[in-house]
Amino acid sequence: MQQTPVYTQALSDPVFRIIAKASQNLNVSSYVIGGYVRDYLLERNTSKEMDIDVVVIGSGIELAKEVAKLLPGKPKVSIFKNFGTAMIKSSGWELEFVGARKESYQKDSRKPAVEEGTLKDDQNRRDFTINALALSLSEKDFGSLLDPFNGIEDLNAKLIRTPLDPDITYSDDPLRMLRAIRFATQLNFKIEKESLEAIKRNKNRIKIISKERIVTELNKILLAQKPSIGFALLLKVGLLDYILPELTALQGVDEKDGQRHKDNFWHTLEVVDNIAETTDNLWLRWAALLHDIGKAPTKRFDKDTGWTFHSHEFVGSKMVYKLFKRLRMPLNDKMKLVQKLVLLSSRPIAISNDVTDSAVRRLIFDAGDSIEDLMLLCEADITTKNPRKFRTYHNNFKRVRKKIKEVEERDHVRNFQPPVSGEEIMHFYGIGPSREVGIIKEAIKEAILEGVIPNEKDAAMEFMQTKGAEIGLTPA
Ligand code: ATP
Ligand code: MG
Repeated sequence: MQQTPVYTQALSDPVFRIIAKASQNLNVSSYVIGGYVRDYLLERNTSKEMDIDVVVIGSGIELAKEVAKLLPGKPKVSIFKNFGTAMIKSSGWELEFVGARKESYQKDSRKPAVEEGTLKDDQNRRDFTINALALSLSEKDFGSLLDPFNGIEDLNAKLIRTPLDPDITYSDDPLRMLRAIRFATQLNFKIEKESLEAIKRNKNRIKIISKERIVTELNKILLAQKPSIGFALLLKVGLLDYILPELTALQGVDEKDGQRHKDNFWHTLEVVDNIAETTDNLWLRWAALLHDIGKAPTKRFDKDTGWTFHSHEFVGSKMVYKLFKRLRMPLNDKMKLVQKLVLLSSRPIAISNDVTDSAVRRLIFDAGDSIEDLMLLCEADITTKNPRKFRTYHNNFKRVRKKIKEVEERDHVRNFQPPVSGEEIMHFYGIGPSREVGIIKEAIKEAILEGVIPNEKDAAMEFMQTKGAEIGLTPA
């Protein structure tokens, strides 16, 4: 018989001895299970590997209370009675305690009926074999691995596999379909063929999953090193159409009169992977994912100019709002950033061939503090396979960046504050709030952006007087 491997090294932190002692005091067996064990074995240092899940043959709540007594500073125990779980935060760890359970599911809900069970029962209800690995916290076999489904083999083979029949696992809790794809993306694992087929068969079950949970998984996919793995899988199994139909609509290449356009779906995935190399900002990654969604509804063929996507940036930025709303994502400044980046996504390209001061001033004025993010998005948007073009486009953007720096240092139009205020205009002419004040303000702003006058008070006052005379105003 094969010997059980022992991983005491994984449990070298004092907190594990304390949980072991508490378990001994209560005369129960307990185990570390799930993500902590998996990530230890993968030598994966996530920024938050601070999650420890403990399963106990008995009451999770009672064990948590006993552990808290033994921990330095006697931390508070948060009890979730409905779930029979308890949580303690202590010295950077988040400890979750749950009693081993056996679950059975009804068709229309992912909330199972629960009864007490053995460790094996509990491992059975886990989503994947690599997430069912458990290390014993008992005195007699401290650190022994309990791996009834050969999760270790799957870890080595980089395989996502379910402990039970995948059709049952996914149908019981369809969130697991997204978790499978998320883990495949984060860990760069393959999803076992039977699992993939089962996901295809069960995809419409995703409807019972809340939007919030879907978005949590989408965000994790987007934050992975290579997000395209996840989106390609979502497309392949047919889930993307339920979640982000705006993206599936970008698929395909049309040809007319010998003219073809690029496949905007695969292009988009390349852009997302590119931006993932330069930023961890989730919202910039969302912007990359959505930057071309306006292309599906705006696609036209014109005999003279070929394929066009006229004003797809504007249409796309409107779609961002609807998409965020549908997925119950925050409709706050993050959403506005994504909208803004989508709206402006073609501007740096449009000016990069012939960079004039006034075009750059307008760009800075419109982008404000998002100018750097916008440049990152545009650089990520370069997906040409032609090395000469690739270099040219990047060099063009280098010139745009240089110009942005020069112009901003000189003209300060980022977060533009008019050098002459509405108050000052009204005072000068002895008039109240009126259309004329707006006209003059707008004219001053335009003159500065166009480079007719510098962004300075004296010049703006002088310009105001010329403009004022033009529209028939006389100084007070
Ligand atoms: P991460 O924390 O990186 O998301 P994790 O594996 O720790 O990964 P959690 O969501 O923290 O994931 O869940 C902890 C453990 O609980 C998992 O390892 C798995 O064993 C189990 N689990 C979580 N969600 C499910 C689910 N929907 N179905 C079955 N088991 C689950
Ligand atoms: Mg976890």
